[in-house]
Amino acid sequence: MLTPRNVSDALDKYYISLRFHARGGQGGVTASNLCVEAFNGYGVSQPQFGAERMGSPTESYVKLSRNVELVRSNEQVYSPHFVSVLDPSLMYEFNVTAGIPRGGWLIVNTTMNQLEIQDLIKRKDLNIATIDAIRIALDILGRNITNTIILGALIRVSHLFTLEELSDAIMRRFKENIAGKNIKAVEQAVEETCIYEVGIDVDFSAYTKIPWQQVKPELPGYKDLDMAGVWYCDMDENIIKVGSDQVNTGSWGEWEILWDQEICTDCGQCWFICPDFAIIREKGEDGMWHMAGIDTYHCKSCQNCLNICPVNAIGKKLKQAPGSCAVPEENGGE
Ligand code: SF4
Ligand code: SF4
Repeated sequence: MLTPRNVSDALDKYYISLRFHARGGQGGVTASNLCVEAFNGYGVSQPQFGAERMGSPTESYVKLSRNVELVRSNEQVYSPHFVSVLDPSLMYEFNVTAGIPRGGWLIVNTTMNQLEIQDLIKRKDLNIATIDAIRIALDILGRNITNTIILGALIRVSHLFTLEELSDAIMRRFKENIAGKNIKAVEQAVEETCIYEVGIDVDFSAYTKIPWQQVKPELPGYKDLDMAGVWYCDMDENIIKVGSDQVNTGSWGEWEILWDQEICTDCGQCWFICPDFAIIREKGEDGMWHMAGIDTYHCKSCQNCLNICPVNAIGKKLKQAPGSCAVPEENGGE
C-alpha cells in the first residue's frame, strides 16, 4: 500500500513517472500539465500527438521529483508508475499497461470492475483504481471532459499532490466559473474512486529507457509502400481505396454522427469539410452526386459536418463505449 511517506521518500531519491492515455479533445495533455503545476517540487510534462486531431489517441507523459537533476529532459516515459486512461475504449485498442512495473497503478475512467479489467489487460500484478468519470463530468461539467476528474482518482492512490494543491493549479489555469465546477468534480472523484490493490508495492527505483530504433537499410522505400491518408477518384470517378482506408478511424470518436435525410438539402458543405472523407455521396440517376450518409467506419466524430450544416440535418449521440455509462441523446448544431 502506498503511503504519503514512502511516496515522499521516493520523490527525494528518484523520479516518479506517469502516462496519460486520452483522445484528442479530452484534455489528456492538460491533465499532465496540471500534475506538474500541482506538484510541490520539480516536474516536466511531454505530449505525444499523432497527425490527427479530435478523437485521435494521444499520450502524454509526466516526470516528477524533488531532485531537479532527475527531471531535466523532456522525453517519452517508457515505464510509468501510474497510468491514467481517460477513455475506456482505448483499452480495447492499445496496450495501455505497456511498461508499467509490477505493483504500478492503472487508473481508468470506467464502470468495469477489477476482474473485468484484469481479464482485459491480461495482468494481475497491477493495482487498479476506477472512476465513473463520464457520469461525474456530465453531471457537473455538462460535457464529457474527464481530465480533471481522473486527477481526483490519481490523488486518492498516488499522494503526489493534495486536493488543495490541485485546486490551486486549476484556479490558476481556468476561468473562475469553470475552475469551480472542475474542483467540485475532482472532489467527487476523490470520494468515489474504487481501489483494488494486489498487495505488490511498486519499485520506484526501477525504470526503463528503450533505445532509439536503428533504421535498417533493407526496409522498403516509400515507392514500395501503400499510399496513405487520402482517397481519390480515377478518371471514371471510381473511388480507389488505398492506405488509411484500412484504418478504423471510426473507433476513435466518442460520438455517433447521425444524418437526417428528411431535413438534408443536399448542399454538400459537409462533404467538403469532412477531413476523413466520411461523408458518403452517391451518383444518382440524374448523373449528379448526392449526399447518401455517414461512413461510420471512418467518421472520427470531429463534428465539423455537424457545425457547418446550415439546416441541422446532422446530429450526434454519445456512443455506449465499452465500460462506459449510459448517457442521453443530444441534438446537433450546438
Ligand atoms: S463525418 Fe462529420 S464528424 Fe465524421 S469525420 Fe467527417 S466531418 Fe467529422
Ligand atoms: S451540410 Fe447538411 S444539408 Fe448540406 S449536405 Fe450535409 S447534411 Fe445535407
